[in-house]
Amino acid sequence: MQKNWVIGFPRIGEQRELKKALEAYWSGKSGYGEVEKISKELKKRHWGYQKDAGVGYISSNDFSLYDNMLDMSITLGAIPKRFRGIDDETALYFAMARGSKDTVAMSMTKWLNTNYHYIVPELSKDDEYKLNIKKVRDEYLEAKENGFKTKINLIGIVTYLALSRAVDFEDSFEAFDKVLKIYEELVSEISKLDDEIVVQFDEPVFAKDVSQKELSLLKIAYERLSKISTSVKIAVVTYFEHSKEAVKVLVYTGIWAIGVDFVYGEKNVEVVADIKSSDKILIAGIIDGRNVWVSDIDKKVEFLKSLDMPKERVIPSTSCSLLHVPYTLRYEDKLDKNIKEWLSFALEKLDELRIVSKLYFGESLDNNEKELLSKNRRALTFRATSKALHNQAVKERVAKIEKISRENPFEIRIKKQKEALNLPILPTTTIGSFPQTPELRKLRRDFKQGNISKDEYESGIKRYIDDCVAFQEEVGLDVLVHGEPERNDMVEYFGEMLDGFAFSKNGWVQSYGSRCVKPPLLYGNVSRPKAMSVDWITYAQSKTKKPMKGMLTGPVTILNWSFVRDDQPKDVTAKQIALAIADEIDDLQKAGVKIVQVDEAAFKEGYPLRAENRAYYEKWAVESFKISTSVAWDKTQIHTHMCYSDFNDIIQTIEDMDADVITIETSRSGNRLLKVFKRVGYKKEIGPGVYDIHSPRVPTTDEIKAQIEKLLEVLPKEQLWINPDCGLKTRKWEEVKPSLKNMVEAVKSFR
Ligand code: GLN
Ligand code: ZN
Repeated sequence: MQKNWVIGFPRIGEQRELKKALEAYWSGKSGYGEVEKISKELKKRHWGYQKDAGVGYISSNDFSLYDNMLDMSITLGAIPKRFRGIDDETALYFAMARGSKDTVAMSMTKWLNTNYHYIVPELSKDDEYKLNIKKVRDEYLEAKENGFKTKINLIGIVTYLALSRAVDFEDSFEAFDKVLKIYEELVSEISKLDDEIVVQFDEPVFAKDVSQKELSLLKIAYERLSKISTSVKIAVVTYFEHSKEAVKVLVYTGIWAIGVDFVYGEKNVEVVADIKSSDKILIAGIIDGRNVWVSDIDKKVEFLKSLDMPKERVIPSTSCSLLHVPYTLRYEDKLDKNIKEWLSFALEKLDELRIVSKLYFGESLDNNEKELLSKNRRALTFRATSKALHNQAVKERVAKIEKISRENPFEIRIKKQKEALNLPILPTTTIGSFPQTPELRKLRRDFKQGNISKDEYESGIKRYIDDCVAFQEEVGLDVLVHGEPERNDMVEYFGEMLDGFAFSKNGWVQSYGSRCVKPPLLYGNVSRPKAMSVDWITYAQSKTKKPMKGMLTGPVTILNWSFVRDDQPKDVTAKQIALAIADEIDDLQKAGVKIVQVDEAAFKEGYPLRAENRAYYEKWAVESFKISTSVAWDKTQIHTHMCYSDFNDIIQTIEDMDADVITIETSRSGNRLLKVFKRVGYKKEIGPGVYDIHSPRVPTTDEIKAQIEKLLEVLPKEQLWINPDCGLKTRKWEEVKPSLKNMVEAVKSFR
């Protein structure tokens, strides 16, 4: 058997077949049979791809109709009370994932620091767990029938518990004993499936800063699980960062193999010696499962050789599941040929893995592999010297950045801004977007496909802006927006207008459930050939006497939501974007725009898993934001918006960004989080969202009044803005109109 390992494979389908089947089923357009049929086809196809690419360790149970954490909850019988009456297993599964008419869905959150979202297990103190091995067994046998011998993927117990929520007790680890019993039973049942079988337990929480408690549970869990059966070989894999502490524990348990990420956890080399002196196999994560650029095959081979490990105990692997990258370059016929050569999606990564593996083990390459290797070397040489990546002018501009703060401190700026804007107290505004109607999407699509002329397109957009402005004036909002009708996505829109970005046709990556995103490919030097938003904003401003807020996406968010080049440090790339945004702000203010909002929706997403890396992130992230906004005159008011509410541990960083106004998502967390602003004596202005836009519900005037009262208990009225908690693009006009009307109405009673 070829010695290489793939931690997991994407499942949504290279044409998003699973997405389509699921959505057709959910909407009642087709039956469940279709979902099953497509799932079978996809699994078989994906196993086939891996086998053809010479992967020795292919997974079963990495497939999922929604999410692997949710699958694990089903396997363990961790079913929250409100779902227990649902007998039909399919109905139960999707009710947990998406809610049903009688039950609220389980919540969803980011899988560590990725953009994939998992369903958060809910544990209760009187839960009785019960093994349900069906999916695990069926998928293993299904693979076997189709001629694939697979390893079985499972979420490890410590990660499962650490990422779950204890509903009615202190700490989800209190459920450890009960849950471990089910894991033991599971391993025991798995041992009956075959003479010898490999089980992969994913334990990525150990890539974070871990507690002693987690480490001691890790030890207990794998000591016990490895004793269950001699026919089950247990591999524990970690990824996204180093997991040195966990490795030092795992080497003393009876497991068979340990997987570590050498791409995002360089420090893992420090524990190779520990693995060597144990009897464990090292699963060496060397092919980047999270980014899309070609691997330097020669360097990877060299790296493996540099590890002080006997070769027969090393298995080259992907750094993590390939779930986080698109499927294949096969359909990318529109991408620039050069850029395409620098890219490597899941299928291409399988080839890289095989070639690295063969070279490391001293096997000879066939002709096709030789060809791939020389192509790889060519791409790397080209990438190292290409003009597109090494635009001297952009580089020099970044090197010469001098201005990284605004002219004057907030106290001086705010006076000039108040004079220029002349707003009432508790000014009302929105976060930027207004409903994206089907007609609007069609308009953009028609233009993109060349079905309508530029004129027709622009007049369509202008009509939307006209309506949007008229509505805002009518309800009496104080600071208006143009509504973002020209944008289908806040990052893609700017990416498409900037140099240095490319877009794939089919580079979809699962974000949650059936949802996929297609992140821009940030491959080169970023610069702004021409203004990106000025025409729309000035058009909107010409339609009203009230201040029109310019709307931009910030550099950190653009970077965090793209596949970012890996051949230069992130801070350099971020600063290039920052300069482009700075140019845009300057053009806006010169065109008469008095307020510019720089959205940093993904600022917090970029936080590293390990505290040791935080300072670097915060430094470049804050600096980039400040470079962008440093061009603003004193009287130009800079807003920023962030889509979450947990600022406790980053409040200092938020202050350092030095925005004049920050709008945040607080409606769901009450004024709890605002206390932190009070505690640190935050002086700048804040717009804590007064209602939740994620729900179709229209808030009443009284509710909003009550919310404002709560805010006033914590913050002085001079500091407060009143706005919804995020953009309105996912809502309908029927919801938005009365909601905003009620919001403005509520404010009146305080003036
Ligand atoms: N200005 C953007 C909007 O309103 C902000 C989006 C976001 O916060 N994710 O849509
Ligand atoms: Zn938001």
